[in-house]
Amino acid sequence: MKITIGHLYPDLLNLYGDRGNIQCLMKRCQWRGIEAETIAYELNDRIDFSALDIVLLGGGSDREQMLVCEKLKEIREDFRSYVEDNGVVIAICGGYQLLGNYYKTEQGTIQGLELVDMYTEQGEGRLISNIILKSDLFDMPVTGFENHGGRTCINENKPLGRVLYGSGNDGKTGYEGVVYKNVIGTYLHGPLLPKNPQLADWLILKALERKYGSGVKLAPLDDSQEKEANDYICRRFLK
Ligand code: GLN
Repeated sequence: MKITIGHLYPDLLNLYGDRGNIQCLMKRCQWRGIEAETIAYELNDRIDFSALDIVLLGGGSDREQMLVCEKLKEIREDFRSYVEDNGVVIAICGGYQLLGNYYKTEQGTIQGLELVDMYTEQGEGRLISNIILKSDLFDMPVTGFENHGGRTCINENKPLGRVLYGSGNDGKTGYEGVVYKNVIGTYLHGPLLPKNPQLADWLILKALERKYGSGVKLAPLDDSQEKEANDYICRRFLK
């Protein structure tokens, strides 16, 4: 079995080292004997979505998002077909915002991909914190770090999880992220996947099932260190 990961615009969307998430996906495949390849795309590269099994869209500053936004118009239709065909996507922070209809900032409105019916508007101050969620997709709580000025409204879509600590989508609803088909969008930055191996495996399994059928099973890995780190964070922040 083989997985091909498409990393969209790492030159612009790579805040807090989102690239580490790619390493995690590659390693967790390789440790199980699944071949893994990553294709990194620059702004002017043509993207053949039919060759991809997982797409990663990382975080970026408002300025970088503005630069990417023009390009998104060109790839929107192909990206939408990929998503509607159950293509797997992990979109983080700035990338998460770009999945939606728009991101309104003081400097102007950034047109989104319109892949998920949601929108983001800049609010007063930034939401910066460690964050812990309970998601019904995983047994382990999801832990991470958030730093965003945008407040995201996911309309009728399903959130990734309920916020146990931190702010989440808008600091008010108590929810974080979005799940639409095989797309996960989240504000959790940096080492999202190394910290949350169950989320990494959800993406890998969905991608393999789409490609090879629903009989695919993922061999368990030794995640004892990740579990210990997760317990520590939960003990530290959840009294
Ligand atoms: N520029 C966006 C915001 O501030 C996203 C930032 C990010 O990716 N950390 O809301």
